[in-house]
Amino acid sequence: MRYISTRGQVEPVTFFDAVMMGLATDGGLLLPESIPTVDSDSLSRWAGLRFQDLAVEVMLPFVGGDLSRDELAALVERSYATFDHADVTPVVSVGKNQVLELFHGPTLAFKDVALQFLGNLFEQILKKRGGQLNILGATSGDTGSSAIYGVRGKDGINIFILHPYKRVSPVQERQMTSVLDANVHNIAINGTFDDGQRIVKALFNDLDFKESHSLGAVNSINWARILAQVVYYFYAWGQVTGGDVTQKRVFSVPTGNFGDIFAGYVAFRMGLPISRLILATNQNDILSRFVRTGAYQLGEVRPSISPSMDIQVSSNFERYLYYLLEEDADLVREKMESFAKEGVLTVDEAAQKRVDALFDTTAVSEKETLAEIKETFQGSGYVLDPHTAVGTRAAREVAEGAICLSTAHPAKFGEAVKEATGQEPELPPSMADLLERETRCARLDAEEAIIKQFMIDALDG
Ligand SMILES: *Cc1c(COP(=O)(O)O)cnc(C)c1O
Repeated sequence: MRYISTRGQVEPVTFFDAVMMGLATDGGLLLPESIPTVDSDSLSRWAGLRFQDLAVEVMLPFVGGDLSRDELAALVERSYATFDHADVTPVVSVGKNQVLELFHGPTLAFKDVALQFLGNLFEQILKKRGGQLNILGATSGDTGSSAIYGVRGKDGINIFILHPYKRVSPVQERQMTSVLDANVHNIAINGTFDDGQRIVKALFNDLDFKESHSLGAVNSINWARILAQVVYYFYAWGQVTGGDVTQKRVFSVPTGNFGDIFAGYVAFRMGLPISRLILATNQNDILSRFVRTGAYQLGEVRPSISPSMDIQVSSNFERYLYYLLEEDADLVREKMESFAKEGVLTVDEAAQKRVDALFDTTAVSEKETLAEIKETFQGSGYVLDPHTAVGTRAAREVAEGAICLSTAHPAKFGEAVKEATGQEPELPPSMADLLERETRCARLDAEEAIIKQFMIDALDG
C-alpha cells in the first residue's frame, strides 16, 4: 500500500515513510492510496477472533510491502501485552448502550491503543533502516504520558516531553515523571501548555537542529495511530453482533481532534456495518457546528471538565474533508488555505448531504456531562469518566443501543467524577501506589535556548 497527501503535492510513499513523515511535506495529511474493503464472509469470521488476531487482519492490507504478516503479528502482540484486560478493549453493557472500554492500557486512556503500537512500530522501522529518533512534544496531560509509555526503554529512541509545571493533574504528572527509563526525559517548564507548544514548534523549525538530532513528533496526525484505532470498531461490532452482517450499529464517539471518529469513518468505508456515527463534543463544538451547518469555523477554546477534547482546530479533520470533497486534493488545499486565512471554511449543499447521511452530532454542556455521570451511576452503578459521558449523553439523544467509546478510566479525571457522584473513583490495583512512586523530572524556564541545550546535553553528552 502506498500513501498520498490530502493536498496532492507529495509523490506516493510507502507505509514506513508515511509513519516516519508524520505530517506530509506539502502541509497535508497522509492517507492510503485506496481503502481496502472487507467481504461479508471475512466480517463474520473476524467476529470470533481475539483482539490481537483481528488487528493483524484489519491492518495487514495497509502495511503490505513493509511488514510481513508474521512481523505485524509479533508487533501487535508486543503492543497489547501491556494492557491489563484479556480482551484488550472489552465491551460492557451499561443500561441500553454498550460501552467499549478503551482505557485498559498503561496510562488509562484510549491513546495507549495507538501509541503502544506506534512505539513498537518506530522501533521496528529503526531496526530495519538504522538511525535514531528523538521524539519531542509538549503535552497538557494525556498524550505525553501515553507517548512516554509507548517508547520507554526502546532502542534507538529518546523522548523529551514538556509539561507545564503543576498545571497537569497529579495523576497525569506522576504517570509521566515516574517512568525512570534512561531514554525518557521529562521537563516541567515554568510556564503554560502554550509556552511548551511554542518552544516545540520553534525547535522543529530550527532545521539544522532538527536534522542533526533526528527530531520526530508523535502527534495525532500520524497515520499509524488512526490505523490502530480502526481495529476496535471491528472488534466491538463483532462482540455485539456475533458477526451477523445484517446487523448495523450506531457508534457514539467523544471527539476533539477528529482522530478517533475518523478511524470509525475508515472502518465504515472498509465495509463494517455502521448505520450512524455520532460525533459528540463538549462545549468546544467546532466539529459539531460543522456537522450541523457545513461551516467549519474557529471559536475560542473554553476549558472544560473533559479537557482532552478542549480543542478548536481539529488536526485530523482534513482527512475527512478529503473524502467529503470526493478526493479532490486541489479543492482541499484551497479550502484549508481559506481556513488558515479567514478562520472559516464551508462546503456546498451536496457535500452537506453526504455529511448528514452518516453523521449525527450533539455538543454536550458541562451540566449535562455531570448529570450523565450521576444518572448513569445511580441507574446502573457504572462510573463514566467525563469524556465518555459526553459520548453516552449524545447517544441518548440520538439512538438507543449504541456502541459508546469510553476514552478514559474515571480515576484519571477523578475530580469531575467526584463532583457528580460524591465518590472519588479508585485507581486500578496496578496503579494504586502511583502517587508514591519515585520520580525524575527536570524543571526549566520556558525558553527555547534552554530546552535546546538540555536536549544537546542529554543526546551528545
Ligand atoms: C485525546 C482524547 C479524546 C479525543 O480524541 P480525538 O482523537 O482527539 O478525537 C477523548 N478522550 C480522551 C480521554 C482523550 O485523551
